Amino acid sequence: MSTRTDLTNATHDPALRSWVESANDGATDFPIQNLPYGRFRRAGSDEAFRIGVAIGDQVLDLKLASEQSPWPDAVSPLLEPLAAGDLNAFMALGAPAWSRMRAALSAALAADSLQAPFLELCLLPQSACAMALPCRIGDYTDFYAGIHHATTIGKLFRPDNPLLPNYKWVPIGYHGRASSIGLSGPVKRPHGQTMAPGASAPVFGPSAKLDYELEVGAIVGRANAQGQAVPIAEAEDALFGLVLLNDWSARDIQAWEYQPLGPFLAKNFASSISPWIVTMEALAPFRRPFTRPAGDPQPLPYLDGAFNRAAGAIDIVLEVWLQTAAMRAAGQNAMRLSQSNMSDAYWTWAQMLTHHASNGCNLQPGDLLGSGTLSGADAGGRGSLMELSSNGRSPITLPGGEQRSFLQDGDTLTLRACCQQSGAVRIGLGEVSGTIVG
Ligand code: CA
Repeated sequence: MSTRTDLTNATHDPALRSWVESANDGATDFPIQNLPYGRFRRAGSDEAFRIGVAIGDQVLDLKLASEQSPWPDAVSPLLEPLAAGDLNAFMALGAPAWSRMRAALSAALAADSLQAPFLELCLLPQSACAMALPCRIGDYTDFYAGIHHATTIGKLFRPDNPLLPNYKWVPIGYHGRASSIGLSGPVKRPHGQTMAPGASAPVFGPSAKLDYELEVGAIVGRANAQGQAVPIAEAEDALFGLVLLNDWSARDIQAWEYQPLGPFLAKNFASSISPWIVTMEALAPFRRPFTRPAGDPQPLPYLDGAFNRAAGAIDIVLEVWLQTAAMRAAGQNAMRLSQSNMSDAYWTWAQMLTHHASNGCNLQPGDLLGSGTLSGADAGGRGSLMELSSNGRSPITLPGGEQRSFLQDGDTLTLRACCQQSGAVRIGLGEVSGTIVG
């Protein structure tokens, strides 16, 4: 593993501009410094999905690009799995290959690129694309690294002792379900067993406490063999990139079913991710030191490392937006419900990945790790309605006078994220959106 003392390189140069004009607009999530991967096809077609790179408001089709443009000899083998539509196979090539491909894409899309006349023919507007999951997600694990979320939720049930004794020592998580992970679109309200307060028997029916969870997801890029741990010094090279993740949650089903084994049907009916994987390398300018508040335990040695301390955290601004059916009908814009930051997570991605593999559990390219709900320290940063409404005790009031404790049918919930830092070009993770249907 490289020491990565200098994280940034020529691909992060803020002066870099693209011959794709829309990539030079300061408001785009996808300037040439980003270069995220996704899977797309022309909307309305039944073509096979292809791997593309988002650039401004366009997608560079890597199958066409591999055929239509000259590439350096060393790059052609890296393009093969991408041209074949297999992001998992590309990820399996490892971090040095990811970095070489990024450098080649950056050079190809740069303003002075001799490849521009060829690659102009390989662009499709994002507005003309239908997206698919960016890779095969074999397994999904959801952590609980948002300490402000864990504390606020804990206080609802244990006012004097919100965090359980293990929280500051071990990255808490559970195994979710990969089959129900999708992109933006309708989210069907789940049915399940709920037990009303004071009732003598549960009932089965639609959840009345449907909620969202603002999370970031990490895509694992490199496998570890079963029985083989991943030292924290190697964890960064096993992480391919990040997406937004909404871990839809039915709080009433959860409250009845979660003891003693944890979340089950309250969480596995749908999880939504954003379609573009922003690579860890693209996020290099936005790294932050991993810190612990004074008085908190330091991580055990297997979760501690020089790089993790220096730059294990990532500064990503996260937002939640809500538009109800009534707001939509009245022409009212979505309302921002919260703003928080990934860097407030109690554990870093390297710590979560290392902990996951520490018992010998084998991770595979395409596995999804969820951060847990990323709430901020203050009231404006609450990343779920359960926190915002104190589990329904204090409904929030929306601009048109409507109230919400939990999501209603017709509500559209959108997560967005971006990274901003002086001396770097702003990049974004895009967005993921879901509309509740009964
Ligand atoms: Ca969660």
